[in-house]
Amino acid sequence: EAPARASSTPALPDTLSVRGARVHNLRGVDLDLPHRSLIVFTGVSGSGKSSLAFDTIYAEAQRRQVQSMTSFARQFMNEMEKPDVDRLDGLCSAVAVDQRSSASRNPRSTVGTVTEVYDLMRVLWATVGSGHCTDCAAALVDRACPAGHDTALPDLTGPAFSFNLPFGRCPACLGLGSTREIDPALVVPDESRSIDEGAVAPWRNAPAERAAAVAVVERAGRSTAVPWRTLPSDLRETLLHGVGGSGADGVAEDRGQAAAGRLPGVIPWLERRRASAGEGAADPAEPYLRTVACPDCAGARLNPAQAAVRVGGLGIAEACALPVADALRFFAGLTVGDRDRRVIEQAVIEITDRLTFLIKVGLGYLTLGRTARTLSGGEAQRIRLAGQLGTRLFGLLYVLDEPTVGLHPEDTAALITTLRGLRDLGNTLIVVEHDHAVIRAADRMVELGPAAGELGGRLMFAGTAEELLVDDDSLTGRFLRDPGGATARPGGVPRTRRTPGPGRELVVRGARANNLRDVDVTLPLGMLVAVSGVSGAGKSTLVDEILCRAADRALGGDAPPPGDHDEVLGLASIDRVIRVDQSPIGRSARSTPATYTGILDTVRKVFAQTDEARRRGFKPGRFSFNSPGGRCAACSGDGTVRVEMGFLPDVFLPCDVCHGARFDDATLAVRHRGRSIADVLAMSVDEAAEFFADLGAAARPLRVLAEVGLGYLRLGQPGNTLSGGEAQRIKLANELQRRPGRHTLYLLDEPTTGLHSSDVARLAGVLHDLVAAGHSVVAVSHSMEVVAAADWVVDLGPGGGADGGLVVAEGTPEAVAAGDGATARHLRGLLR
Ligand code: ADP
Ligand code: ADP
Ligand code: ZN
Ligand code: ZN
Repeated sequence: EAPARASSTPALPDTLSVRGARVHNLRGVDLDLPHRSLIVFTGVSGSGKSSLAFDTIYAEAQRRQVQSMTSFARQFMNEMEKPDVDRLDGLCSAVAVDQRSSASRNPRSTVGTVTEVYDLMRVLWATVGSGHCTDCAAALVDRACPAGHDTALPDLTGPAFSFNLPFGRCPACLGLGSTREIDPALVVPDESRSIDEGAVAPWRNAPAERAAAVAVVERAGRSTAVPWRTLPSDLRETLLHGVGGSGADGVAEDRGQAAAGRLPGVIPWLERRRASAGEGAADPAEPYLRTVACPDCAGARLNPAQAAVRVGGLGIAEACALPVADALRFFAGLTVGDRDRRVIEQAVIEITDRLTFLIKVGLGYLTLGRTARTLSGGEAQRIRLAGQLGTRLFGLLYVLDEPTVGLHPEDTAALITTLRGLRDLGNTLIVVEHDHAVIRAADRMVELGPAAGELGGRLMFAGTAEELLVDDDSLTGRFLRDPGGATARPGGVPRTRRTPGPGRELVVRGARANNLRDVDVTLPLGMLVAVSGVSGAGKSTLVDEILCRAADRALGGDAPPPGDHDEVLGLASIDRVIRVDQSPIGRSARSTPATYTGILDTVRKVFAQTDEARRRGFKPGRFSFNSPGGRCAACSGDGTVRVEMGFLPDVFLPCDVCHGARFDDATLAVRHRGRSIADVLAMSVDEAAEFFADLGAAARPLRVLAEVGLGYLRLGQPGNTLSGGEAQRIKLANELQRRPGRHTLYLLDEPTTGLHSSDVARLAGVLHDLVAAGHSVVAVSHSMEVVAAADWVVDLGPGGGADGGLVVAEGTPEAVAAGDGATARHLRGLLR
């Protein structure tokens, strides 16, 4: 096995030692960590785990890596800040596998390309494929190996079968496999509206086109005040597609008009606007576009000649369309003649290694062709791990951020096996994690605390997992000893479960999207409902693709059409639906907790009312970094400047004019109780709550942010540095502070990401507060702590992908725990 290869090379020193780490909130942490071991960092959110793992250890490793590289990279070295740490000894090359960067933005990244399985497949198809265009094989082999060798697999990657290169990709979709087309269902999102009520969305801002259409309808003897769906179908056809559709009584005379370009139909009109929009400009039809399989290649991404080449009876795109579990059987069963055996064997071993890993970590339901962008953060991270494991590198330090996110406890054992596999190859792993099973599996545990932000940053514990379990001072130890502790309400009082009220429920009937098997699902209203199940069971499909979209459209919103289902009953009793997801609160460094929650608006007014501001004539806008005026002109208020490093990740350097303050000197000279606007943005939520205690409009949102466990966040922390879980809790806090009277359905996706057990208890309390205020909450969650804290559970499964899609159990957590299956087994330990 591989470890032999690793241990023969003393690639790592014995110990990684940290002295005097003071990054962010760290209070001079000293720590010795054994190399070639699985190390878990834990502690409450905001205690400093990431500051130590990523911003100190990984950042310094990366800095030293860059230092040993090109002169281009080195010229930034003096500016690239050295983390605030006295000494770091025994450091080696490091790889970060976090969630933010793993979700690749490239639309051409697929599960196959990220895991490198697709590269290996290209080798197979190019060398042993039948029905070949010989040029493909020649091009591939020529490009790969000028010396004519045929063994160096990783280098054997030429242009054949690549949908990233013009040579092989489908010319119609440029290798994307899909195109964006105008969807009539988005152009007329609600057929019960009339034209007068804006049924045809693009006309809402196009009075001339709308007037022309109104004239056509009137000339046809019809009214523009009746629901769209009651207009004759040929008239609707003409209004949408212009002439050339079906023949039409009463609109025939308008054909002349149409021919003259005055009534082109709304879709051809949008198409013309798309065509005339400049290169790189925003697509004017964007709100009406839907992604559909490319009509030329049917999603295969390749040109017809390449798509036709077969191995084992399948084209390469067909093999990519198999779920990983089926793909494994396919590759394991491949047979070839002697001549090709060598290539086949080597490639097949590497392919099956990686596929086996994907299955082990609960991702056997994915297809290799699945676009990486559509994966959740946790899935994307596990796929990158599969790629790493396949490389069989050793002597590296891996730094991971919560690899169990999105993983049902049933699949955690396999993840742990994999982490240990990476360790046994001769690597060191630092894993930021809250999951109890991973903590128990660690060779070494590190706990930071005791609380968040200023109140954290200290080393609370370092030792083995067994020692942690019996440590009286360790918060984590306490939860490990009493796992049910997180599910009780804060204060330790167990809550009685709510019971479903008669008729107060949503019923999704005939759900068939993705893997759902024509199921009916009942979700009681007025309570906290958890939707559980192993990954790939169909939870997001049910909640996001069907329920959320159907509810939004029923309430007059313009969500994309929901996934396949018959109907959703009971939506009439909901006034509003809000999806609280983990997407960033904004795209740029300029969206911060302070801007998103509106706190900054209040604060700016306070600054504008100071004597100094009045004397200088500064209005509230002066104190904004989103518009010119008071912000630093050099960095446009970002506080940082992005430097592109070519093949390395971009580096952000502090702006050398404002040094991160984001404002110009005149603006910074204005002070409120001795603090400048930059000082305020540097405050934590907790500090600001004290500072603005008498300012109601700011105090309330600040208090709510603290309630959801974000008291440690800096008001001005750039939105793009927040974790998905933090972004989600900011959104939740924003909802809580508004607390509308109308019945709102909140849909949450994995709300415990990044939360320590002690934070989970607090979050569950907040969700119950929303329910107590008259709202309904549905949370998709793998966390048994959330499931145990819910009033009602809908468990999907039993497996992932084709093995899932059924309702396995529904009822109170106690009722579900009494059944069998994965969720029941893991839930039992948490209920008391
Ligand atoms: P954890 O990983 O334990 O949740 P972090 O290391 O992310 O905690 O955060 C620890 C403290 O450092 C928090 O108070 C947080 O607000 C602060 N912090 C984190 N990132 C930054 C940053 N980029 N700039 C300033 N402060 C930060
Ligand atoms: P869960 O939320 O329980 O993890 P999902 O609802 O995401 O499960 O997935 C259920 C099934 O549907 C899986 O087989 C998954 O691969 C498939 N699926 C989900 N989203 C897509 C998509 N955008 N394209 C293709 N298949 C998808
Ligand atoms: Zn195509
Ligand atoms: Zn600046």
